[in-house]
Amino acid sequence: MDRKHEVLAQVFGYAEFRGGQEELIDAQLAGRDALGVMPTGGGKSLCYQIPALLSGGITLVISPLIALMKDQVAALKKAGVPAAYINSSLTPEQIRAVYKNLLAGRYKIVYVAPERLAAEGFLRTAQALDISILAVDEAHCISQWGQDFRPSYLKIVDFLNALERRPVVSAFTATATAQVREDIARILALRDPVRVVTGFDRPNLRFEVLTPQNKEPVLLSLVKARAGKSGIVYCSTRRDVEKICRMLQDHGVAATRYHAGLSDEERRENQDDFVYDRCPVIVATNAFGMGIDKSNVAYVLHYNMPQSMEAYYQEAGRAGRDGSDAECILLYAASDVRTAKYLITHSVTNDELTERERRQLMERDLLRLKQMVGYCKTTACLRGYILSYFGEAHAEHCGHCGNCEAVVTERDVTTQAKMVLSCVRRIQDHIGYPVGAALLVRTLRGSRDRRILALGLDMLPTYDLLHDTPRTELRELVEHLEADGYLQETAKGGALTLTDRARDVLFYDEPVRILVRSAPKPKRRTAKAPAPDDALFEALKALRLRIAEHEHIPAYVVFSNVTLRDMAAKRPTTMAEFLEVSGVGTYKADLYGEAFLSLLNGHHEARET
Ligand code: ADP
Ligand code: MG
Ligand code: ZN
Repeated sequence: MDRKHEVLAQVFGYAEFRGGQEELIDAQLAGRDALGVMPTGGGKSLCYQIPALLSGGITLVISPLIALMKDQVAALKKAGVPAAYINSSLTPEQIRAVYKNLLAGRYKIVYVAPERLAAEGFLRTAQALDISILAVDEAHCISQWGQDFRPSYLKIVDFLNALERRPVVSAFTATATAQVREDIARILALRDPVRVVTGFDRPNLRFEVLTPQNKEPVLLSLVKARAGKSGIVYCSTRRDVEKICRMLQDHGVAATRYHAGLSDEERRENQDDFVYDRCPVIVATNAFGMGIDKSNVAYVLHYNMPQSMEAYYQEAGRAGRDGSDAECILLYAASDVRTAKYLITHSVTNDELTERERRQLMERDLLRLKQMVGYCKTTACLRGYILSYFGEAHAEHCGHCGNCEAVVTERDVTTQAKMVLSCVRRIQDHIGYPVGAALLVRTLRGSRDRRILALGLDMLPTYDLLHDTPRTELRELVEHLEADGYLQETAKGGALTLTDRARDVLFYDEPVRILVRSAPKPKRRTAKAPAPDDALFEALKALRLRIAEHEHIPAYVVFSNVTLRDMAAKRPTTMAEFLEVSGVGTYKADLYGEAFLSLLNGHHEARET
């Protein structure tokens, strides 16, 4: 066994590397720079932690969120790695103590907030150190084209220049766009880095889009059906976060909230409640999540559609990091598009941008929004849609998403479609410009609305033609016609016009068939393991929680769900067998082996009798 496999097994308790890890580790060990692009949960941390342990000097890790360094360092310490962090949550004395230990060579890995890099004291300390590797986590923060530009990331460059000897520099991100990747390499001035971009598929995630009439009760039942599991509910606005969190609490769900309008202290507390499993559900804006390494999130619900596929995949990807099955469900409504457009066109602008750059960014964002809406409306495989978006080849059906599992039936809607399309044409002929879906639907249903009367739309032959079709059904039909290319939005957005395809229907009697999705078949529970295993798993979880509370660390830092499940399946009875469990390294086996083995042996005996 080579040394990196030894460390993988002994320190982290894993038997094999995941895709991309080995190459990135080898590069750094050979003294080369490295750039790793892997999806959230892909295992980027190991890519710098293992080289750190196998190099002579110290590894500095730049990480954007101070609140989370604590957990990362706690996890390393529990694996027997001497580690520390330096950020503004420490007192000046504590920081001095860390500097002293650093100079005495007591740490292998130190997490540093980017702001700290420019601090006099830190720089002086760093100049006296033997730094083997500088690892930049969430490296997309350095690009102003990325989702989370952080100006303090630019300090990394000055810091590197201030060092007498340049360490190996490695950078990691989950952002897939080529432009951001280029920015990272260029701004950090990576030297001929080994680049690894792994596949973006996350097979353990199940994707689904729902379009309920009324989202709140649907959200509530989704959350209730997942009681006891950890989940994130994302909303677009602070107001919705407040409303949904209160609604869940009113129905007895232990939910907490997170958005930029709360005080730092409350944000930290609420985040801890979630990370430490005191509150299983957190309702949050997109301000929440970067750097959250909580590995046992079982579901991510989107109460609103996000503004881009990048944002969606990053947020949804926070589910199932430990590899367990997890769900990503998005609740879509047409009003989400309006909110997203508003947010894009009214977002606080960066003063460093010129007017032209600002307009370019806005156009880019509106295009991204369109692709996000496409995800919500597609009847094709959702995983396929995501992978295509990120430029990856994929099978036509994944068999594990809402659309692949849905029962799709074809319906002939030629008659109704003709009425709709003809109405679009007549309105435009009559008033000289096209209108949006809402006015179209009202005309078809014979509304006495003031605007309809003012425009004289009640005089059209198509007025009131679909009087008996419920508004929502008609709305859906219009959406289908748009998605299938019979109608298109005008460049300015909002209004609908006919396409050539629509003319074929109106003038050449082309039939219109739409695919109607009905809810997924109830999942057949494939011959699930018998109940005793569940009981054992629950008992292991309870023990883990007791340990975590006693040691003031998050439960997943003790062991991940995947590790507990493997433990329940393998039922080790000796220390040697315990070490065979995935995620159990020697140090953790020393710490927790006895407690878990005694539970496992007790369970074993209980089963024998
Ligand atoms: P990322 O930073 O890429 O989002 P993490 O580094 O947080 O992902 O890793 C996600 C999870 O995967 C963690 O629970 C980690 O322990 C686990 N993991 C990483 N590498 C491996 C591996 N080779 N085998 C099994 N699990 C792994
Ligand atoms: Mg990470
Ligand atoms: Zn699919």
